[in-house]
Amino acid sequence: MEKKDELKSLTDDELLLRLSNVLKQSRRVEAVLVAHIAEVDARRLFEREASSSMHKYCTDVLHLSDAEAYLRIAAARASRRHPALLTMLEDGRLHLSGIAVLAPHLTNNNCEKLLARATKKTKGELLVLVAEIAPKVDVAPSIRKLPERREKKGQEPPERSSPEPANEHPMSGAAGTLSGKSNPVAETRPADKPPIMEPLAPSRYRVQFTASAELHDKLERLAALMPGTDLVSMIEAAVTEKLERVEAKRLGKVKKPRKSLEEADTSPGVRGISAPVKRFVWERDQGQCTYESTEGRRCPERRGLQFHHDDPYGRGGDRGATNVRLMCVTHNLYMGEMDYGKEKMDQYRRSADRVREPSPSFLLFPDGVPMPNSAQESKSCHPVVLPWDLRRRTATHLKPAPSFRQPRYA
Ligand SMILES: [Zn+2]
Repeated sequence: MEKKDELKSLTDDELLLRLSNVLKQSRRVEAVLVAHIAEVDARRLFEREASSSMHKYCTDVLHLSDAEAYLRIAAARASRRHPALLTMLEDGRLHLSGIAVLAPHLTNNNCEKLLARATKKTKGELLVLVAEIAPKVDVAPSIRKLPERREKKGQEPPERSSPEPANEHPMSGAAGTLSGKSNPVAETRPADKPPIMEPLAPSRYRVQFTASAELHDKLERLAALMPGTDLVSMIEAAVTEKLERVEAKRLGKVKKPRKSLEEADTSPGVRGISAPVKRFVWERDQGQCTYESTEGRRCPERRGLQFHHDDPYGRGGDRGATNVRLMCVTHNLYMGEMDYGKEKMDQYRRSADRVREPSPSFLLFPDGVPMPNSAQESKSCHPVVLPWDLRRRTATHLKPAPSFRQPRYA
């Protein structure tokens, strides 16, 4: 184990190199661990160790967590059928979560091609890949009332299970018939699950979240004003309207722009950026952070983007499109640190962290993998399940990133 003081004495480059080497070692050990679990499982040695299953043996005797045991056993069993998985785990082309996602869909016929496509993909990308090769049918829109949450001391966590059936108490397609009944399935599930966005098939997603009583009430009021509109269309219309308003305010995106880029005020020394410049920069940078590492890896962040001045406006930089580009909060602060010093920017970073830390807007949900519990409480909640067509979002995501010059201080 590295001593903290020893690590502190390393330069940034040395620390990153050391981390990379430790990760390589860790992956080698992980592959060996999975191979051992596979062999112990094949010989059913957990029985003589007083365990009723391999999973019990991993959690009770080896003291792995539920999720650690699940992922390693899934990888171990899949690797017995497809030994290439161990090699990919060892060299970092595939991670444990990826193997768990792919394993049920691997066959002797598709193994080679599928593993080639899966190389170095994130878990979210692998879920999209699986949705492509094994599309699921759309789920029916539904709203169900969950029971009031009652915490008991020493209460056992809920059993891990496959995703709940999505067609309990369906809305029967009409926006004005929101079901308010509770059901037995809901009684056994906590009301504080984080939202889920699961790819079902190419361009189709299942969206599920727990809504407040207030949102449920608003949906009913909107449904009453939009008779004949189904739940999905109604929510899509509401989101589209909100998106247009936010984009108009934040990015200057309007149907009839009043000024062109040439007419925009780009005078230096002022922070505010005019709408034509915002529109141009957003389109040019394709809604993605433009920071690039020294190796040329562009930051993939698309959330919470800010307009960054290459030549700081506080030092006389202008507001024109050539001096402004998109950056995520982290990299905008990082570049600010280069301009104004670490101490000055730390106070901004602390306040930015407070904004960024709340739970993500949704989680991708692989079958059979336990979801982490959110700490948030909710008194009266309604899970909403939507088969949502997100073609436009996906298409935007798949646009190739343009090349960018290196940041001045990278
Ligand atoms: Zn970034």
